[in-house]
Amino acid sequence: MINKILIANRGEIACRIIRTAARLNIKTVAVYSEVDANALHVQMADEAICLGEAAASKSYLNTALIIEKAIQYNVDAIHPGYGFLSENAEFAQVCQENNVTFIGPSSEAIQAMGSKSAAKTIMEAANVPLVPGYHGNEQNPGFLHKQAQAMGYPVLLKAAAGGGGKGMRQVWSDEEFHSALISAKRESLNSFGDDHMLVEKYLTQPRHIEIQIFCDNHGNGVYLFERDCSIQRRHQKVIEEAPAPNFPSNVRTAMGEAALKAAHAINYTGAGTVEFLYDTDGSFYFMEMNTRLQVEHPVTEFITQEDLVEWQIIVANGLPLPKSQTQLSISGHAFEARIYAEDPNNEFLPSTGKIEHLITPKISPFVRVDTGIQTGDEVSIFYDPMVAKLIVWGEDRNKALSLLINSLQQFMLCGITSNIDYLIKLAQSEPFVNAELSTDYIERHNKLINLEKAPLLPEQQIAILGIISAQNISETNELSGYRVNHVVNKAYEYTYNQETFSFEVQQLAPCLFQTKVSKVSYTFEVEKHDSHITIITPDSKLTYAYYENNKCIYLQIQSGMVCIEKASIDFGTADESASAGDVVAPMNGNVVKVMVSQNEKVKKDQVLIIIEAMKMEHSLKAPFSGVVKECRVNAGDTVEGNELLLTLLANEQ
Ligand code: ADP
Repeated sequence: MINKILIANRGEIACRIIRTAARLNIKTVAVYSEVDANALHVQMADEAICLGEAAASKSYLNTALIIEKAIQYNVDAIHPGYGFLSENAEFAQVCQENNVTFIGPSSEAIQAMGSKSAAKTIMEAANVPLVPGYHGNEQNPGFLHKQAQAMGYPVLLKAAAGGGGKGMRQVWSDEEFHSALISAKRESLNSFGDDHMLVEKYLTQPRHIEIQIFCDNHGNGVYLFERDCSIQRRHQKVIEEAPAPNFPSNVRTAMGEAALKAAHAINYTGAGTVEFLYDTDGSFYFMEMNTRLQVEHPVTEFITQEDLVEWQIIVANGLPLPKSQTQLSISGHAFEARIYAEDPNNEFLPSTGKIEHLITPKISPFVRVDTGIQTGDEVSIFYDPMVAKLIVWGEDRNKALSLLINSLQQFMLCGITSNIDYLIKLAQSEPFVNAELSTDYIERHNKLINLEKAPLLPEQQIAILGIISAQNISETNELSGYRVNHVVNKAYEYTYNQETFSFEVQQLAPCLFQTKVSKVSYTFEVEKHDSHITIITPDSKLTYAYYENNKCIYLQIQSGMVCIEKASIDFGTADESASAGDVVAPMNGNVVKVMVSQNEKVKKDQVLIIIEAMKMEHSLKAPFSGVVKECRVNAGDTVEGNELLLTLLANEQ
């Protein structure tokens, strides 16, 4: 029985495996590279071992060292997660030779599916429908070209050893063929040390639908239904969901059975995913099989209410599968959004840096955040830029989708650039809402998605101005620099969505401001707290998360995060026109009480007049010690903002 597992991985998947192991009372050993010494997975595991330098080849891919440590630390099993060593047949073999259980399929099964062309040959023999194309050994460029011509353009050149969309090129005409072949081969050789190519018919608008399968050592196999992973960017998944919407149940059964046929053809054990392209005419074709746990496995966990890592451990223990096919069913709908450290406004280039501030949505039975990062961590150039996964569940697709959007809106990730705002726009884009899915979705709807950036609503603009104005409020909500006799008038500028906005804000009282948004005047009160501000208007009270560093103020609004560069804020100057002893009404309101009378001596900060506005009372205090020269109002009077109420004369020295 497995009592101790070494997790040969990092980041969110290492943490996710540790979580299940802990629940099952299994001890865990984390491994890490020097740059990951303080990482979450290291903190969560019972024991942790430093493998070496940051480069994966020196740490997470160092098979000899990992096996040595597994033996030294007396572990029963190694979980490879995904990526790194998870589909390395040699590593699975070495584990076996050293009596350490590899939590995954046999080395032979990994090998069989390791090459896309060999996999297609096996599937062909097992009568699993294939994407039409050439997957033989002949690699002569002229021969491959003829194959492309015979099947008709467009075709897709694919690296047999490929993964992560690398070594893949679409070819739309004869003229493009040779240069595409050369560049696909070059990329494949660089990434995988192999440039064997397949030529496939390129389906222009298919859906990517994959089946989660599980097999044990007793000849049992089940499929845990499908995931629709059609939302991709450059052949890489961005948002996944389960079940696939508008997916006829007879196709579900046929695809599930085809996937199991594929698994049985290679005596598969453990968790696996059989990927298919589902064409517009209802036909589906085997694409490849991934012999590991997939990044997107949590959506399956949500709709089946099963823990797939637990299932993997059960199978690795040699036990039968926990459930039979008839005991499995689909409940509700789940989405996963992959959160990447990348810049959607700059060609999605990976972004590195320190996570200065991280707020994740509130976790519940319906909202799950799988992440390996925490505030203070450094996102480095060494590893995958995916920093977190948000997974949500709802009774149906619409409910799950609004929870997805809502939860994305609650994320705050400052310090690096992320794709969160992009995910919000993507999730809100109309064809996606209508479940019009296809693998070319992002390419086809690119303009639409980018237009989706919602214009700021008045209350969001108020929120932005509120947070800027709140710069004047110290933590104790006391005003710095505000004087009762001034209506502080400031011009502000901020940049949002690459546009610069200028506004005038009047500070009426310590925490009370007035501004004009789209020609309508708004008065709002600001309460500033540690990590959020509350904006109170007469008919709403909205709280926004914010974070501030030397350079920027970040504010979380519905369409994502607004970053206001402090340098771009023009703090303007206070309106000095009123004379020092003039006490003016900070806003339109009613005089509740006049606390002093003419010729009365008053002390600095003594309350002179109380006025009421927006159902709140505001005390107007003496800016200095002196004598009331004139009081122009009485209780019950209605006054206008800026109206002179009282004049104070300073004490003669
Ligand atoms: P990788 O292993 O690099 O991820 P896959 O074979 O899984 O490559 O394909 C990745 C994606 O590329 C698929 O999800 C699909 O969107 C697209 N794709 C692959 N083959 C085809 C094809 N023949 N026609 C159209 N799109 C394809």
